Amino acid sequence: MSLGSTRVLVVGAGGLGSPASRALAQAGVGHLRIVDDDIVEVSNLQRQVLYGDEDVGADKATTAARVLWTLAREAGHPTSTEAVRTRFLPDTAAELLAGIDLVLEGADNFATKFLVADACALAAIPCVQAGAVRWSGWALACANRRPHGLCMRCVFEDIPRDRVETCATAGVVGPVVGVLGALQARLAVAWARRESIDGRLYSYHGLEGRLRRRRVRPRADCPHARGAIQDLRPERYAASCAAS
Ligand SMILES: [Zn+2]
Repeated sequence: MSLGSTRVLVVGAGGLGSPASRALAQAGVGHLRIVDDDIVEVSNLQRQVLYGDEDVGADKATTAARVLWTLAREAGHPTSTEAVRTRFLPDTAAELLAGIDLVLEGADNFATKFLVADACALAAIPCVQAGAVRWSGWALACANRRPHGLCMRCVFEDIPRDRVETCATAGVVGPVVGVLGALQARLAVAWARRESIDGRLYSYHGLEGRLRRRRVRPRADCPHARGAIQDLRPERYAASCAAS
């Protein structure tokens, strides 16, 4: 697998997905499938670097796919792009993952993050996820090898049920998602080059400018290791309705 033949699904074309997909288009990834059901708002522009003033009111997926196609051409790459104006949900997951080699997740709520993590673990598709709130955030790469490699549930266990801030509710600082999105792209490129990215967990604190990298290992009592998750039943991710 080379980067030019790698097909990437980008879940969320917002603060993380914008810089991540831009870097991948400019690096010459084979295909970018952008999934987002949101529209561009003025408040997005400071951190969602794919969009300009003229895009306010337009749908993000279509706009992102057009901009990414152009950026790839300008960099001399034949990258193809595709917009899917929907959300990553239990009943859209299989279709969105079809033909995909790697998933780059930058959703703004925990329910979608766990849904993407579970879908990728069940389908054995490598996944690079990230999240950020205010000045700090994380990025995690999971190769999702069978029977059970590292997954997001090895690290974060489950959707927080109490009131937890997400970037959708608390906001996030532009440069923080810029750093994390670029890291996600870097991990995707590394994976395409057959570097081992499995279990790399980065934490970034923007105010202190501190980036830490450590390697996390699969947990034997992770629900995926125990075989406790075999499907994407919607009630497991019900919080997504409230969170986004
Ligand atoms: Zn796990």
